[in-house]
Amino acid sequence: KPDQEILEGRAKVRTSGKVFYNPVQEFNRDLSIIAIATFAKLLRQERHAKNKQISDEDNLVVDIRSPGIKYDDGLCILEALSATGLRSIRYAKEIPGINNIIANDISKEAVNDINNNIASNNVENLVTSSHNDATMLMYQHRREKQFDVIDLDPYGCPSIFLDSAVQSIKKGGLLLVTATDMAVLAGNSPETCYVKYGAISLKMKCCHEMAIRILLQCIEAHANRYSRYIEPILCVSADFYIRVFVRVHSGAAKCKNTTSKLSHVYHCTGCDGFELQPLGMRKPHQKNNNLVKFCLPTGPPVTRNCQQCGSPYHIGGPIWTAPIHSPDFVKQVLEAAPPYLGTFKRIRGILSMVLEELVDVPLYYTLDRLSNTIKVENPSMLTIRSAILNAGYQVSYTHTHKNSIKTNAPAHVIWDIMRCW
Ligand code: SAM
Repeated sequence: KPDQEILEGRAKVRTSGKVFYNPVQEFNRDLSIIAIATFAKLLRQERHAKNKQISDEDNLVVDIRSPGIKYDDGLCILEALSATGLRSIRYAKEIPGINNIIANDISKEAVNDINNNIASNNVENLVTSSHNDATMLMYQHRREKQFDVIDLDPYGCPSIFLDSAVQSIKKGGLLLVTATDMAVLAGNSPETCYVKYGAISLKMKCCHEMAIRILLQCIEAHANRYSRYIEPILCVSADFYIRVFVRVHSGAAKCKNTTSKLSHVYHCTGCDGFELQPLGMRKPHQKNNNLVKFCLPTGPPVTRNCQQCGSPYHIGGPIWTAPIHSPDFVKQVLEAAPPYLGTFKRIRGILSMVLEELVDVPLYYTLDRLSNTIKVENPSMLTIRSAILNAGYQVSYTHTHKNSIKTNAPAHVIWDIMRCW
């Protein structure tokens, strides 16, 4: 590829042509900038409250910070797979409250580009280059100098980087992970998905959300090995990839809740319907409410065939079935989005849809698949949504599919509506 000059956000970088650069990922970089800036503010509020033991009202008053300036108590960020350094340089120039950023890459050419770009953007005070295998670099930070934020943006599957990432991030830190191997995650190769992510993917219409939930269970599994657990605060599917933003917390006792955040998916081979089977539940002990007892799964999808159409199930997962967004966080990110961003409108559009999603309802139906199954004309979205609401259930779209129906209505209610509209 020829040399290229790239102007994106507040950064102007050059790539030698041998180093990876994808203009389509501008949305990913823009969104990450606002998410990290929002997280930085949140972290300052939390630290402030902890140190000062002050009231909630005082806690809202946080010092105002500027991008491009080094703050000793600011964020330490690792961009583990940096390519041209564009992302790190943008973080330095556009996120307020940073202490330092390490822009790492295993390729010599990439590190060359990173060094040139750091110099031409005058961000030597904030960005340092590193030429290392990302896993080795993160293992070196397991015990000391852990990071507040780690950004993993590899080609394809990120799972080889997760073991070191979950150990080298501070308690409560923010881990950002991209996965671009959508064919594997969306059910084209379930056995490869199991090998890479520890879960079986299924070919379903809701495969994009399923992909997010497979990746989340994979990160959780890695975190659990070190008495850590995740809190997803924003997860999106866009273009050819998924991007998840999770906080990584510590606590062996809390890790025992993981089984109740995961489920197997029973996917009907006939009507494309699905049922979820939690891996296990933790409930208060009946005799003594202070004790929490592990219960083996019980519940509906133990039948071998689909209760709606009688066809056999394919069984996939486990997937993450706890919430994938924090509405409070998403709202703050939406409000913080600066209009100068190249993908500002798209960010506003996607985050507004994310905010409307039912957080407690995993996966979704699609209107065309429902109509196709029972060979009826597509009803309008308005008709079907009103019918679900009138039946007393909740319904929303998802940002991952334009004709999606995310609802807490049982499957038989959906089919009744589809047959009678
Ligand atoms: N984050 C970049 C951006 O926003 O433009 C793009 C990163 S690109 C998809 C992946 C980069 O990871 C490549 O530059 C590649 O050289 C680097 N890479 C691959 N394996 C690595 C490893 N084990 N350690 C460090 N870097 C690695």
